[in-house]
Amino acid sequence: TTEASRDVIYEAHVIPRSDGCAVISFIDKTHKEEAGQMRSDFVANVSHELRTPLTALSGFIETLRGPARDDAEARDRFLDIMEQEAGRMNRLVSDLLSLSRVEDMERMRPTDPLEIAEILNTVENGLSGVIRAQDVDFEIHYSDDLPFKVPGDRDQLIQVFTNLLENAIKYGKISGKVSVLVNRHKSRRGIRGPAICVTIEDQGDGIAAHHIGRLTERFYRVDGHRSREVGGTGLGLAIVKHVVNRHRGRLRIESEQGRGSRFTVCLPVKT
Ligand code: ADP
Repeated sequence: TTEASRDVIYEAHVIPRSDGCAVISFIDKTHKEEAGQMRSDFVANVSHELRTPLTALSGFIETLRGPARDDAEARDRFLDIMEQEAGRMNRLVSDLLSLSRVEDMERMRPTDPLEIAEILNTVENGLSGVIRAQDVDFEIHYSDDLPFKVPGDRDQLIQVFTNLLENAIKYGKISGKVSVLVNRHKSRRGIRGPAICVTIEDQGDGIAAHHIGRLTERFYRVDGHRSREVGGTGLGLAIVKHVVNRHRGRLRIESEQGRGSRFTVCLPVKT
Protein backbone atom coordinates (compact mmCIF):
# COMPACT_ATOMS: atom_id res chain seq x y z
CA THR A 1 0.00 0.00 0.00
CA THR A 2 1.07 3.67 -0.37
CA GLU A 3 0.75 6.40 2.25
CA ALA A 4 1.65 10.01 1.51
CA SER A 5 3.91 9.14 -1.43
CA ARG A 6 5.87 6.40 0.34
CA ASP A 7 5.37 2.67 0.18
CA VAL A 8 4.17 1.06 3.39
CA ILE A 9 4.50 -2.70 3.68
CA TYR A 10 2.10 -4.68 5.88
CA GLU A 11 2.09 -8.40 6.51
CA ALA A 12 -1.52 -9.58 6.99
CA HIS A 13 -2.49 -12.65 9.05
CA VAL A 14 -6.04 -14.01 8.76
CA ILE A 15 -7.15 -16.07 11.76
CA PRO A 16 -10.55 -17.79 11.22
CA ARG A 17 -12.89 -18.04 14.23
CA SER A 18 -15.43 -20.70 15.02
CA ASP A 19 -18.32 -18.21 14.71
CA GLY A 20 -17.60 -17.73 11.02
CA CYS A 21 -15.85 -14.38 11.52
CA ALA A 22 -12.11 -13.86 11.15
CA VAL A 23 -9.50 -11.78 12.92
CA ILE A 24 -7.09 -10.04 10.57
CA SER A 25 -3.88 -8.71 12.04
CA PHE A 26 -1.56 -6.35 10.18
CA ILE A 27 2.13 -6.15 10.98
CA ASP A 28 3.99 -3.07 9.76
CA LYS A 29 7.13 -4.37 8.02
CA THR A 30 8.08 -1.08 6.40
CA HIS A 31 11.13 -0.36 8.53
CA LYS A 32 12.39 -3.92 8.26
CA GLU A 33 12.07 -3.80 4.47
CA GLU A 34 13.71 -0.36 4.36
CA ALA A 35 16.61 -1.54 6.55
CA GLY A 36 17.05 -4.57 4.25
CA GLN A 37 16.97 -2.32 1.18
CA MET A 38 19.51 0.08 2.73
CA ARG A 39 21.81 -2.81 3.56
CA SER A 40 21.72 -4.19 0.04
CA ASP A 41 22.20 -0.70 -1.48
CA PHE A 42 25.22 -0.26 0.80
CA VAL A 43 26.76 -3.59 -0.22
CA ALA A 44 26.14 -2.73 -3.90
CA ASN A 45 27.82 0.66 -3.41
CA VAL A 46 30.84 -0.80 -1.61
CA SER A 47 31.25 -3.48 -4.30
CA HIS A 48 31.06 -0.87 -7.04
CA GLU A 49 33.55 1.45 -5.29
CA LEU A 50 36.02 -1.40 -4.80
CA ARG A 51 35.55 -2.90 -8.22
CA THR A 52 36.41 0.32 -10.08
CA PRO A 53 40.03 0.54 -8.83
CA LEU A 54 40.40 -3.24 -8.96
CA THR A 55 39.39 -3.33 -12.62
CA ALA A 56 41.88 -0.55 -13.35
CA LEU A 57 44.64 -2.43 -11.51
CA SER A 58 43.95 -5.69 -13.38
CA GLY A 59 43.95 -3.83 -16.69
CA PHE A 60 47.31 -2.18 -16.00
CA ILE A 61 48.88 -5.44 -14.81
CA GLU A 62 47.81 -7.08 -18.07
CA THR A 63 49.20 -4.17 -20.12
CA LEU A 64 52.50 -4.23 -18.21
CA ARG A 65 52.84 -7.94 -18.88
CA GLY A 66 52.00 -7.50 -22.56
CA PRO A 67 52.22 -4.43 -24.81
CA ALA A 68 54.04 -2.13 -22.33
CA ARG A 69 56.59 -4.72 -21.25
CA ASP A 70 59.61 -3.01 -22.81
CA ASP A 71 58.35 0.57 -22.65
CA ALA A 72 60.04 2.13 -19.59
CA GLU A 73 58.17 5.43 -19.90
CA ALA A 74 54.72 3.78 -20.10
CA ARG A 75 55.65 1.47 -17.23
CA ASP A 76 56.45 4.40 -14.92
CA ARG A 77 53.24 6.18 -15.88
CA PHE A 78 51.13 3.06 -15.31
CA LEU A 79 52.82 2.35 -11.99
CA ASP A 80 51.92 5.88 -10.84
CA ILE A 81 48.27 5.33 -11.76
CA MET A 82 48.30 1.91 -10.07
CA GLU A 83 49.66 3.51 -6.91
CA GLN A 84 46.82 6.07 -6.97
CA GLU A 85 44.20 3.34 -7.45
CA ALA A 86 45.66 1.26 -4.60
CA GLY A 87 45.60 4.43 -2.45
CA ARG A 88 41.93 4.89 -3.31
CA MET A 89 41.12 1.34 -2.17
CA ASN A 90 43.10 1.89 1.00
CA ARG A 91 41.19 5.10 1.84
CA LEU A 92 37.89 3.43 1.14
CA VAL A 93 38.66 0.48 3.44
CA SER A 94 39.82 2.76 6.28
CA ASP A 95 36.73 4.99 5.91
CA LEU A 96 34.49 1.90 5.96
CA LEU A 97 36.18 0.69 9.13
CA SER A 98 35.88 4.11 10.79
CA LEU A 99 32.22 4.34 9.85
CA SER A 100 31.34 0.92 11.19
CA ARG A 101 33.31 1.55 14.41
CA VAL A 102 31.59 4.86 15.09
CA GLU A 103 28.14 3.46 14.23
CA ASP A 104 28.71 0.68 16.78
CA MET A 105 29.79 3.16 19.46
CA GLU A 106 27.05 5.70 18.85
CA ARG A 107 25.25 5.03 22.14
CA MET A 108 28.39 5.40 24.26
CA ARG A 109 29.00 9.06 25.12
CA PRO A 110 32.68 10.13 25.19
CA THR A 111 33.75 11.91 28.38
CA ASP A 112 37.48 12.77 28.12
CA PRO A 113 37.97 16.55 28.55
CA LEU A 114 39.62 17.79 25.36
CA GLU A 115 41.08 21.11 24.36
CA ILE A 116 39.71 22.09 20.93
CA ALA A 117 42.83 24.15 20.09
CA GLU A 118 45.05 21.09 20.57
CA ILE A 119 42.75 19.04 18.29
CA LEU A 120 42.70 21.72 15.59
CA ASN A 121 46.49 22.16 15.73
CA THR A 122 46.93 18.42 15.29
CA VAL A 123 44.55 18.51 12.30
CA GLU A 124 46.39 21.49 10.78
CA ASN A 125 49.76 19.74 11.19
CA GLY A 126 48.40 16.57 9.58
CA LEU A 127 47.21 18.57 6.56
CA SER A 128 50.09 21.04 6.36
CA GLY A 129 51.47 19.32 3.23
CA VAL A 130 48.17 19.72 1.32
CA ILE A 131 47.65 23.26 2.63
CA ARG A 132 51.07 24.18 1.23
CA ALA A 133 50.63 22.22 -2.02
CA GLN A 134 47.26 23.90 -2.76
CA ASP A 135 48.57 27.27 -1.61
CA VAL A 136 45.60 27.65 0.75
CA ASP A 137 45.28 30.86 2.75
CA PHE A 138 44.48 29.14 6.07
CA GLU A 139 43.60 30.69 9.43
CA ILE A 140 42.11 29.62 12.76
CA HIS A 141 40.31 32.26 14.81
CA TYR A 142 39.19 31.87 18.45
CA SER A 143 36.50 34.23 19.75
CA ASP A 144 38.29 34.67 23.13
CA ASP A 145 41.37 33.57 25.08
CA LEU A 146 39.70 31.09 27.43
CA PRO A 147 40.35 27.42 26.80
CA PHE A 148 37.69 25.73 24.67
CA LYS A 149 37.19 22.39 26.37
CA VAL A 150 34.64 19.71 25.50
CA PRO A 151 34.14 16.11 26.58
CA GLY A 152 35.05 14.00 23.59
CA ASP A 153 36.83 11.18 21.82
CA ARG A 154 40.15 12.65 20.64
CA ASP A 155 40.75 10.40 17.62
CA GLN A 156 37.19 10.77 16.40
CA LEU A 157 37.15 14.56 16.73
CA ILE A 158 40.46 14.72 14.89
CA GLN A 159 38.83 12.70 12.13
CA VAL A 160 35.76 15.01 12.03
CA PHE A 161 37.81 18.19 11.63
CA THR A 162 40.26 16.50 9.24
CA ASN A 163 37.39 15.41 6.98
CA LEU A 164 35.80 18.87 7.02
CA LEU A 165 39.06 20.70 6.47
CA GLU A 166 40.12 18.28 3.73
CA ASN A 167 36.79 18.90 1.96
CA ALA A 168 37.19 22.69 2.30
CA ILE A 169 40.62 22.34 0.66
CA LYS A 170 39.51 19.77 -1.97
CA TYR A 171 36.37 21.63 -3.04
CA GLY A 172 37.62 25.14 -2.27
CA LYS A 173 39.38 27.48 -4.67
CA ILE A 174 43.05 26.94 -5.55
CA SER A 175 44.93 29.56 -3.47
CA GLY A 176 41.56 30.35 -1.86
CA LYS A 177 40.88 31.15 1.77
CA VAL A 178 39.85 28.50 4.30
CA SER A 179 38.94 29.80 7.76
CA VAL A 180 38.20 27.99 10.98
CA LEU A 181 36.22 29.96 13.56
CA VAL A 182 35.78 28.75 17.13
CA ASN A 183 32.98 30.29 19.20
CA ARG A 184 31.34 29.80 22.57
CA HIS A 185 27.52 29.79 22.85
CA LYS A 186 25.35 29.92 25.98
CA SER A 187 22.76 27.84 24.19
CA ARG A 188 22.40 26.33 20.78
CA ARG A 189 19.43 24.67 19.10
CA GLY A 190 19.38 20.92 19.68
CA ILE A 191 22.07 20.99 22.39
CA ARG A 192 21.60 20.79 26.14
CA GLY A 193 23.47 23.59 27.95
CA PRO A 194 26.37 25.67 26.61
CA ALA A 195 28.17 24.65 23.44
CA ILE A 196 31.39 25.21 21.55
CA CYS A 197 31.00 25.59 17.79
CA VAL A 198 33.69 25.17 15.16
CA THR A 199 32.92 26.55 11.69
CA ILE A 200 34.98 25.60 8.65
CA GLU A 201 34.46 28.02 5.81
CA ASP A 202 35.69 27.86 2.21
CA GLN A 203 35.36 29.96 -0.91
CA GLY A 204 34.69 27.12 -3.33
CA ASP A 205 31.85 26.59 -5.79
CA GLY A 206 29.35 25.87 -3.02
CA ILE A 207 26.57 23.30 -3.06
CA ALA A 208 23.05 23.64 -4.52
CA ALA A 209 20.35 23.73 -1.81
CA HIS A 210 18.65 20.48 -2.89
CA HIS A 211 21.84 18.46 -2.23
CA ILE A 212 22.48 19.78 1.28
CA GLY A 213 20.05 17.49 3.13
CA ARG A 214 21.61 14.39 1.56
CA LEU A 215 25.34 15.12 1.93
CA THR A 216 25.75 12.99 5.06
CA GLU A 217 24.33 9.86 3.36
CA ARG A 218 26.95 7.22 2.67
CA PHE A 219 28.37 7.56 -0.86
CA TYR A 220 26.26 10.63 -1.68
CA ARG A 221 28.27 12.96 -3.91
CA VAL A 222 27.25 16.14 -5.68
CA ASP A 223 29.73 15.52 -8.47
CA GLY A 224 31.01 11.94 -8.45
CA HIS A 225 33.68 12.63 -11.05
CA ARG A 226 35.15 15.57 -9.09
CA SER A 227 35.02 13.64 -5.80
CA ARG A 228 36.96 10.69 -7.28
CA GLU A 229 39.40 13.00 -9.01
CA VAL A 230 40.29 14.66 -5.68
CA GLY A 231 40.54 11.29 -3.92
CA GLY A 232 37.13 11.26 -2.17
CA THR A 233 35.42 8.12 -0.92
CA GLY A 234 31.93 9.59 -0.44
CA LEU A 235 32.00 8.56 3.24
CA GLY A 236 33.65 11.57 4.89
CA LEU A 237 30.49 13.45 5.89
CA ALA A 238 28.67 10.24 6.92
CA ILE A 239 31.51 9.67 9.42
CA VAL A 240 31.29 13.31 10.57
CA LYS A 241 27.55 13.00 11.20
CA HIS A 242 27.88 9.81 13.27
CA VAL A 243 30.74 11.16 15.39
CA VAL A 244 28.84 14.40 16.03
CA ASN A 245 25.71 12.41 17.02
CA ARG A 246 27.82 10.30 19.35
CA HIS A 247 28.93 13.52 21.08
CA ARG A 248 25.29 14.75 21.27
CA GLY A 249 26.36 17.60 19.03
CA ARG A 250 24.93 19.21 15.89
CA LEU A 251 26.22 19.55 12.33
CA ARG A 252 24.98 22.48 10.29
CA ILE A 253 25.71 22.92 6.59
CA GLU A 254 25.24 26.26 4.84
CA SER A 255 26.27 26.94 1.29
CA GLU A 256 25.80 29.40 -1.49
CA GLN A 257 26.54 28.41 -5.06
CA GLY A 258 29.48 30.27 -6.48
CA ARG A 259 30.49 31.71 -3.07
CA GLY A 260 31.45 28.81 -0.81
CA SER A 261 30.33 26.62 2.08
CA ARG A 262 30.27 26.65 5.87
CA PHE A 263 30.21 23.47 7.92
CA THR A 264 29.58 24.08 11.64
CA VAL A 265 30.02 21.44 14.34
CA CYS A 266 28.59 22.37 17.75
CA LEU A 267 29.54 20.23 20.74
CA PRO A 268 28.06 20.37 24.24
CA VAL A 269 30.41 21.56 26.96
CA LYS A 270 28.85 19.23 29.55
CA THR A 271 28.43 15.45 29.26
P1 ADP B 1 33.93 12.83 -0.59
O1 ADP B 1 34.88 11.79 -0.13
O2 ADP B 1 33.33 12.56 -1.93
O3 ADP B 1 34.49 14.20 -0.45
P2 ADP B 1 32.11 13.50 1.60
O4 ADP B 1 31.13 12.63 2.31
O5 ADP B 1 33.19 14.11 2.42
O6 ADP B 1 32.67 12.65 0.40
O7 ADP B 1 31.28 14.67 0.91
C1 ADP B 1 30.14 14.33 0.12
C2 ADP B 1 30.02 15.27 -1.05
O8 ADP B 1 29.69 16.59 -0.56
C3 ADP B 1 31.29 15.47 -1.85
O9 ADP B 1 31.43 14.47 -2.84
C4 ADP B 1 31.08 16.86 -2.45
O10 ADP B 1 30.28 16.74 -3.62
C5 ADP B 1 30.25 17.59 -1.39
N1 ADP B 1 31.06 18.47 -0.53
C6 ADP B 1 31.56 18.19 0.69
N2 ADP B 1 32.22 19.23 1.21
C7 ADP B 1 32.13 20.23 0.30
C8 ADP B 1 32.60 21.59 0.23
N3 ADP B 1 33.30 22.14 1.24
N4 ADP B 1 32.30 22.31 -0.88
C9 ADP B 1 31.58 21.78 -1.89
N5 ADP B 1 31.11 20.50 -1.90
C10 ADP B 1 31.37 19.74 -0.82
